[in-house]
Amino acid sequence: MLKRLFNLPIISSLAKNSPSLKHHIIAREKHNISRRQISRSALKVMQRLGDGGYEAYLVGGGVRDLLLGDHPKDFDIATNATPEQVKHLFRNSRIIGRRFKIVHVRFGREIIEVTTFRDNHTDSGSNNSAKSDEGMLLRDNVYGDIRTDAARRDFTVNALYYTLDRFSIHDFTGGIQDIARRKIRMIGKPETRYQEDPVRMLRAVRFAGKLDFDIDKATAAPIHKLGSLLANIPSARLFEEVLKLFMGGYGSAVLPKLREYDLLQYILPATDSALKNDLPYAEALIAQALVNTDKRIKNNQRVTPAYIYAAMLWPSVVAEQKKLQDEGMQPVQAHQQAAQNIISQQLQTTSIPKRFTQSMKEIWDLQHRLSRRQGKRAERLFEHPRFRAAYDFVLMREEAGEDLHGLGKWWTRYQEESVEGREAMVEKLGQGRGQNRRRRPRRRKPNQD
Ligand code: ATP
Ligand code: MG
Repeated sequence: MLKRLFNLPIISSLAKNSPSLKHHIIAREKHNISRRQISRSALKVMQRLGDGGYEAYLVGGGVRDLLLGDHPKDFDIATNATPEQVKHLFRNSRIIGRRFKIVHVRFGREIIEVTTFRDNHTDSGSNNSAKSDEGMLLRDNVYGDIRTDAARRDFTVNALYYTLDRFSIHDFTGGIQDIARRKIRMIGKPETRYQEDPVRMLRAVRFAGKLDFDIDKATAAPIHKLGSLLANIPSARLFEEVLKLFMGGYGSAVLPKLREYDLLQYILPATDSALKNDLPYAEALIAQALVNTDKRIKNNQRVTPAYIYAAMLWPSVVAEQKKLQDEGMQPVQAHQQAAQNIISQQLQTTSIPKRFTQSMKEIWDLQHRLSRRQGKRAERLFEHPRFRAAYDFVLMREEAGEDLHGLGKWWTRYQEESVEGREAMVEKLGQGRGQNRRRRPRRRKPNQD
């Protein structure tokens, strides 16, 4: 399939940074994208925009992933219609966003995002284009044409435009060639583009991991130096990026790239130092968490940010708890304090909605409580709303090499047993040697010992 791409003539002299980018049209018979692979809703939006006399293109991840033979997770449309004009065409649409207005057109559960061609308003001359739009535009919404829109996108592979007009692809930045060569290449001068938006550094490593592409040398070069600019990004936006990095189904491939470019410290500082200081089980546990998450996503199973964060931060919580105990704090209190400290530290970098930090604390707390199963405890633990996640977490710790004295297996069996079987299991625990060591004498059954 990619053969077609490789057969393309070499695109020479890419006009980087230049407003007059070189325009290549890839005709239908020279590419592998068929209309049948595009969501009907996206096709409808393109069709209606076209019928309304506007230009409409499929752009971004949709085109890129289809060229690579993957299933895009969503379809974005770019058009020369203003958001208001788009809204006028679709009853099922609404304008969202303050800084940049975009239109969401809804078809059942699917949302098609429609953006108006933008201009890079830091360019000189952009004021003109703002004025020429009949004063309809907000100051931050500076509209342009397909060329300016291509130039302000991040990577060449994300700036390909597919049109229903003869089903061709328009390429202004050499993206087709970069897809064939499997390269992530920044449009324009990388250093400037990272300064404009430091999140592009995370995006570069994310796409490299997701697509198994290399980052072009010039695109990679400034990352080490400029990584610290990520400290200026609002914590809410970084939280969104963390989700994209680790909950896209390819987290295992992304983590090594984040470490290679030393960017992990700017999104998960405690995880970064846990890995750098080789804390016990950190490497294996975090790798396992990502493998499991990727697998769940592939199987359409639910994943939650709470679980990922819980795994990423667990080795640091354990180390912090140990430190506090060494300073004389009681284990239970030390655990709670450690959890709180590590979460507070993480919240300075990425926000985490409260419902997730709450679940993280519960998953961590249950790690200690799941081994205390005597009496009615097992039954109660089993009914805990976070039991399933905490049990998965125990299994994961064991998979990562920790010896929890068969705890995971015990709980697996417990779930398979009848009520009587469960009672017998708990009963048997009471007779076990080491299991009761921590129990206070008053809780012991009188007929034991
Ligand atoms: P995926 O959705 O698979 O993660 P995508 O390429 O569709 O990948 P989105 O974040 O959905 O990525 O963005 C859609 C498109 O918008 C991108 O392909 C890119 O062209 C453009 N874009 C997004 N974020 C930026 C950015 N920070 N700077 C420049 N262009 C961007
Ligand atoms: Mg997308």
